[in-house]
Amino acid sequence: MKDKLLKLKDKIIKAVAEASDLSELEAVEVTSLGRKSEFSQAMKELGGLSEGERREIGRLANEIKQEIDTAVDQRRLELQQAKFASLADQDRIDVTVPGIEPPKGHLHLTTQAIDDIVGIFSRLGFTRVKHPEVEWDWFTFESLNMPPDHPARDEWETFFVNAPTHRKLGKMVLTPHTTSGSARELKKGRLPIRMINISKTYRRQIDVSHTPMFHQFEGLLVDRGVTVTHLKGVLDHFAREFFGPDRRTRLRPFHFRFTEPSFEVDISCGICSGTGHLESGSKCRLCKEGWLELGGAGMLHPNVLKAGGVDPDEYSALAFGWGVERTMMMCSGIMVDDIRVLYRSDFRFLNQF
Ligand SMILES: [Zn+2]
Repeated sequence: MKDKLLKLKDKIIKAVAEASDLSELEAVEVTSLGRKSEFSQAMKELGGLSEGERREIGRLANEIKQEIDTAVDQRRLELQQAKFASLADQDRIDVTVPGIEPPKGHLHLTTQAIDDIVGIFSRLGFTRVKHPEVEWDWFTFESLNMPPDHPARDEWETFFVNAPTHRKLGKMVLTPHTTSGSARELKKGRLPIRMINISKTYRRQIDVSHTPMFHQFEGLLVDRGVTVTHLKGVLDHFAREFFGPDRRTRLRPFHFRFTEPSFEVDISCGICSGTGHLESGSKCRLCKEGWLELGGAGMLHPNVLKAGGVDPDEYSALAFGWGVERTMMMCSGIMVDDIRVLYRSDFRFLNQF
């Protein structure tokens, strides 16, 4: 019995040492020490022995079992280390391989244009200001020389906000233009003023050339001795900086309620260089006789200055303003047959810019 067990031990320990991977080792463990193993069979024979023999063989069997367990643990550790070593070899990280760049976003093209516009005017000393987009009627119409029954309000009476009416300031609207910002700037009573207000504006229009939300920018310069010459200089500066060094502007007399005199501002056409016809002799199809309409401008009406608490005998002011989207599209040459595509969040369109 003793010899049998010792031989069995040698056999098992040899098998353990020869196991070439972890699953093989596990199989050896099961077949050598499991319930149906030779070792277990031998243990069952203990019952037929005398008490003294049984104690002796039992102790030996325990020792053998411990020895085998130790051998198995030892071999398992060796095999695991070998496995990790080979893994480290196979799965080595090559830090010199170029990485995969995550997708990067970019500013919306309207935001890019706004940044450009702010930069151009800041070089003339204009500071960007922000004013409410939900505004009182008084700042939107009344203070801009448009009393409640004035027909000029019709085209602008726009999104009214369902809010209580103010005793003096009237109803609330979503700002249909950025001139309300000028009215608020005057109200502050800090002169001189040199501001550029760029804001979302809202009108009740939606079609291929209108979106109900769009952007306008408006400049206001209030000081002593401001004249139309200054206005022309500011506009020329903007045209050259935004559109290119050889672009010119011209002022056409017009009528706005809050300026006097008022002008429509045209810019020389970039396609035909302001001539109205191409080198081939055919007519330029982009412009009207060499000019493109840019926006409105003028000298602030004395009534508007008065409403803002500024003495029109002492101060004068120039103002100008137009749509960001339109200006941007004229500059970049982006031709879209539906302006609403700007705000549809369609990456196929937006990622081109
Ligand atoms: Zn042209």
